[in-house]
Amino acid sequence: MRLFDLKGRVALVTGGNGGIGLGMAKGMAEAGASIMVAGRDAKKSKSAVTALKKLGAEVDSVAVDVLDSASCAAMVAATVKRFRRLDILVNNAGTNFRKLPQDLTDEDWHRLIDTNLTSAFICSRVAYPHLKKSGHGKIINIGSMMSIFGAPWAGPYAASKGGVVQLSRALAAAWAGDNIQVNAILPGWVDTELTKGARRDVAGLHDRVIARTPAGRWGEPEDLSGIAVFLASSASDFITGTAIPVDGGYSSAII
Ligand code: NDP
Repeated sequence: MRLFDLKGRVALVTGGNGGIGLGMAKGMAEAGASIMVAGRDAKKSKSAVTALKKLGAEVDSVAVDVLDSASCAAMVAATVKRFRRLDILVNNAGTNFRKLPQDLTDEDWHRLIDTNLTSAFICSRVAYPHLKKSGHGKIINIGSMMSIFGAPWAGPYAASKGGVVQLSRALAAAWAGDNIQVNAILPGWVDTELTKGARRDVAGLHDRVIARTPAGRWGEPEDLSGIAVFLASSASDFITGTAIPVDGGYSSAII
């Protein structure tokens, strides 16, 4: 359908080499977008490129450490050099660790906030002139259920993901006049490398998530494909500054 058609559009996905980032990249590739996969792990990026090419997309990868603003700028420059334009930026790269607030060091705090929140700001800032030039720019930021809820062991993660939602609103207001839409996706619990660690560290988490999720299951990375296509495409041109849960009903039900 034309409304959801991404042919001729170029999407840059940070952390697009695995997990939710790759799930979103697959959806956009199937809708016709060219994809630049960005991450630190070259082996993972290579295999993501192979998987995406199988969907018929033009794909390439670029190394980035989102903790380094020069690296973020080089990533955006490499994307524009390779594909001649940039229409869609997905700020997906993120990390987590579990510690009680009293055990957190300053370094822990800054590393998490910088990886999950500051990087989204920096990548958006460097992408902005290209998104403006595209005439229909889209920024998709990845929040979390922790944008809404807290957990004892997730102080900086929850703060970063709450911040992602507020950053999205501010960027949406700032750049609406440039026809750039900025939205956040709030995934529920999704089976990825990141949550394998959580399941290992937090006793009973796997079963508690299933019991608490109306859909009765963990999400898969491909569950995020559809929302990525929607927020990347003309179908969402009058939607900006929102935060959309994709969570099997987790945030809607009390138990
Ligand atoms: P993964 O660990 O599979 O993916 C995280 C991605 O981020 C990796 O591709 C990794 O690339 C990249 N990344 C991390 N740090 C950096 C860095 N400094 N520079 C560049 N890339 C980096 O986990 P998910 O797919 O689960 O997570 C993706 C996003 O979704 C995160 O923002 C996470 O917070 C969010 N999220 C996840 C949920 C879940 O249940 N899984 C729920 C809600 C939100 P590389 O390996 O190459 O470093």
